[in-house]
Amino acid sequence: MKSIKITILYLIIFVFLSCNNSDGINDQDNNQNKTVVNKFGQLSIDGSNILDESGNVIVLRGMSLFWSQWAPNYFTEETVKWLIDDWKCTIIRAAMGVENGGYLDNPNTEYEKISTVIDACIKLGIYVVVDWHDHNAEDHLESANDFFDKISKSYGHYPNVIYEIYNEPLDESWNNVLKPYSENVINVIRKNDPDNLIIVGTPNWSQDVDDVIGNLIDSNNIAYSLHFYTGTHREWLREKANKAILANIPLFISEWGLSEADGNGIIDIAETNLWADFMELKNLSWCNWSVNNKDETSSILLPTTTAISGWNDNELSEAGKIMKDYLVKMNSEIFDSLSE
Ligand code: MG
Repeated sequence: MKSIKITILYLIIFVFLSCNNSDGINDQDNNQNKTVVNKFGQLSIDGSNILDESGNVIVLRGMSLFWSQWAPNYFTEETVKWLIDDWKCTIIRAAMGVENGGYLDNPNTEYEKISTVIDACIKLGIYVVVDWHDHNAEDHLESANDFFDKISKSYGHYPNVIYEIYNEPLDESWNNVLKPYSENVINVIRKNDPDNLIIVGTPNWSQDVDDVIGNLIDSNNIAYSLHFYTGTHREWLREKANKAILANIPLFISEWGLSEADGNGIIDIAETNLWADFMELKNLSWCNWSVNNKDETSSILLPTTTAISGWNDNELSEAGKIMKDYLVKMNSEIFDSLSE
């Protein structure tokens, strides 16, 4: 009788401990996988791929905000949250205007907008591209260095942050202008942050990615930007991109749009599909241009849509409807896996 009691007691203790233990493991898993960045962690570059913290190839897909000085309303936690919850973005690009009334004229105001978006992405657990949105950055080296020094000091220890140090250079030489500019800014960032991804601009609106072949930047976790607009840039640009990828160069599509190159004009669905297939085939991460209600093809919102979140399908432009459907289709599996 005594031994039965002891057996039952042991059994109760065993069941109690196992339940507790398994609850503990589940809690831990849930906590670890609650957000995108909890799940994937610190990013790194290996060959032409971006890897997550566990060493698996990762593809990030999301939206770019419009120039901060012209569409500041969307630089809010409310918009970021909507783009995660409803659009399933795993990455947001905060495009900080530099010239034309941007950072050079109002550094504090523009910094505030960018830090609001970074803070929101950290809180909500997605990746964020901090974009020096400039076409003449080599003329603004000192300002770029100041800005990225501050950003990397404040945020370099968060795995969420990706630096984009030059949006779209014009017709400038990689070897003589863009590479030296990039190395200069990278040195500033790397003093504060040894490891987060840095995206550098490539010649001719970030299209001539093959120009960097044989003359890469000697630093870790550097990606090279490729930009395109599907109504203008076609097979010839995919061939250029493929040439770079075959040379083991990691490309990051920090901006692409469904319009023609000027942000307006037609939407070419067939060409968009070719680009979408190409990006998936090559594991390329991207941000789509842009979150705005400006009356132009690439904006995701109709001009009559003034809300900064909560958009229903009738408030989206044609590009907006296509992009929302595509992001939900491509990224839902990632978000579903967070609650498993
Ligand atoms: Mg870091």
